Amino acid sequence: MRSLLALALLALAACATAPEPAPRWSLVVHGGAGVIERASLTPELEAQYRAAMQRALTTGGAILDRGGSSLDAVEAIIHEMEDDPLFNAGRGAVFTAQGRNELDASIMDGRTRAAGAVAGLTTIRHPISAARAVMERSRHVMLIGEGAETFARSHNLETVDPSYFFTERRWQQLEQNLRASNLPVPPRPAGAPPAPRAELSYPDDHQFGTVGVVALDTHGNIAAGTSTGGTTAKRWGRVGDAPIIGAGTYAQNGVCGVSATGTGEFFIRVGVARDICARMQFNRESAQEAADHVIAEVGATTGTDGVAGDGGVIVLDGRGNVAWAMNSPGMYRASQSAGGAPVVQIFADEE
Ligand code: ASP
Repeated sequence: MRSLLALALLALAACATAPEPAPRWSLVVHGGAGVIERASLTPELEAQYRAAMQRALTTGGAILDRGGSSLDAVEAIIHEMEDDPLFNAGRGAVFTAQGRNELDASIMDGRTRAAGAVAGLTTIRHPISAARAVMERSRHVMLIGEGAETFARSHNLETVDPSYFFTERRWQQLEQNLRASNLPVPPRPAGAPPAPRAELSYPDDHQFGTVGVVALDTHGNIAAGTSTGGTTAKRWGRVGDAPIIGAGTYAQNGVCGVSATGTGEFFIRVGVARDICARMQFNRESAQEAADHVIAEVGATTGTDGVAGDGGVIVLDGRGNVAWAMNSPGMYRASQSAGGAPVVQIFADEE
């Protein structure tokens, strides 16, 4: 009887200390952070964003569920988001002060810590695929401008006329931004549709909409990717954090995957993505603790105008646990793990 009791106690203790089984796969997606408030997002636009985030989970979940790679899931989701004019990536990207779309992207393979990045693309339909080509088919990590375009063309990536990326919404945001700073408004780009007769009003006149994905596949491999048009009215070849490995994107098997969104200058200065991973690896912080710490650091950093950094991150740990953090009023975000329910959220206070 006594030994039976001892056995039962042992079994109980084993149950209490057994770690949670890791999900077979896990996925987290963002569609940009910024001043996204209930009062300024119409119900129609909110529904469109929620549907787009759900589509991202469905696309990535299908790939991961059939044993596909995290790299393929990241690339496939970002393809769809680059084609979706709702997001500031690919079609629907924000404009530079010269009235151009200059696209940046990066991707990282946590298995080997191989990485690829592109900046300042103007004719490549899917910048994330150009970043993947840099990672897999060159000896380099980052290519920019003309050279990056030539490289992408030589690897047969799909090209489009620059007007493909044009959307009226982003053009009007550029006009408003330039007028507010007393800068000249450039002519509408060649190939853009004629200006609408009445000025359209878009409630969310901030430049959010960068996209990012982190995935863990059934083979235990983590990948992360980020794609953006950058910030409205950027000048002088400005490049943000999205294509900077260690700032906007990072992945390391067994440790972390991170994609960031926000005012890129601060994310570069804080070294956001790599710092989150280092905290998880060396300080044994959870994904949530590391994300919260580093976003607090972004918020404690100011620019030459005294304004503090803002934005958010999505994170997976090595076992596929999801975390996100932001110091902006909202971030389009979604997550799902094998066998679990999808989660889609927009506003910072959503649980
Ligand atoms: N981080 C991007 C950049 O600075 C912009 C964004 O996430 O909205 O280029």
